[in-house]
Formats: sequence, structure tokens, C-alpha cells
Amino acid sequence: MENSTCIFCKIVKKEIPAKIVFEDNKVLAFEDVSPQAPVHILIIPKAHIEKLSDIKEESAAIIGRLTVTANMLANEKKVDRSGYRVVVNCGYDAGQAVSHLHMHLLGGRPMGWPPG
Ligand code: AMP
Repeated sequence: MENSTCIFCKIVKKEIPAKIVFEDNKVLAFEDVSPQAPVHILIIPKAHIEKLSDIKEESAAIIGRLTVTANMLANEKKVDRSGYRVVVNCGYDAGQAVSHLHMHLLGGRPMGWPPG
């Protein structure tokens, strides 16, 4: 359920500070410490799931909860009309640096494609 060495689990437990923008019983959202766009929020499951490839049929609902939260925050941050990007990096080649599933919500500027 939780991993004592995981930095995002520590944020869930309020053991280290974060600028929390949304919380419910399953999901936590907070500002990225190193923002790559005017809006850059991380949306995570409170339960420790290492990465997207660990999602199975039984845990798939959490992806919906993360998405609904991203949409709600995009609306709150007023990037819903201009557009926004959600990113989930999974594993080494994708550049996943923190081993606790997280969805990036990025917005507030035009973005290039393909990603680097
Ligand atoms: P990823 O490369 O997809 O694993 O992204 C990890 C993200 O977590 C990066 O954008 C980091 O800036 C962010 N990050 C790492 N530590 C913290 C922290 N303590 N509080 C907020 N964001 C963090």
C-alpha cells in the first residue's frame, strides 16, 4: 500500500511538504517542484503503484480518477479552453524518475510534438 522510501508516499503522508491543490480518499495532486509549463501539476494515487505498466484490470479505475482530477484542475487553472497535455512516463526510456505512478498535467503554453 505504501513504500517507506518513496518520496511521493512521503508527500501523501505529509512527511515532506508539497503545494497540494487537490486531495480525496484515493488521489493527491500537487505542484511539480520543477515546473515545465505555467501549469504543471502531478496527480497521483495515494496507494503506492510503481508505474503505469503495473495497472491491471482490478486497479484500472484509478486511471479514471487521475484523469477526472486532471480535467477538473485544468478547468480550475483555466487551461481547459486553451488545451493541456497529460503525460505518464513509464519506465526508463520514458524518463520516469519517481517510481510512484503520476500523471503530469501541463498547460499554459503551446507545446511541441514529438516530445523529446
Ligand atoms: P517523471 O520524470 O515522470 O518521473 O517526473 C517526476 C516529476 O516529479 C518531475 O517533474 C519532478 O520535478 C517532480 N518531483 C520530484 N520530486 C518532487 C517533489 N518533492 N515535489 C514535487 N514534485 C517533485
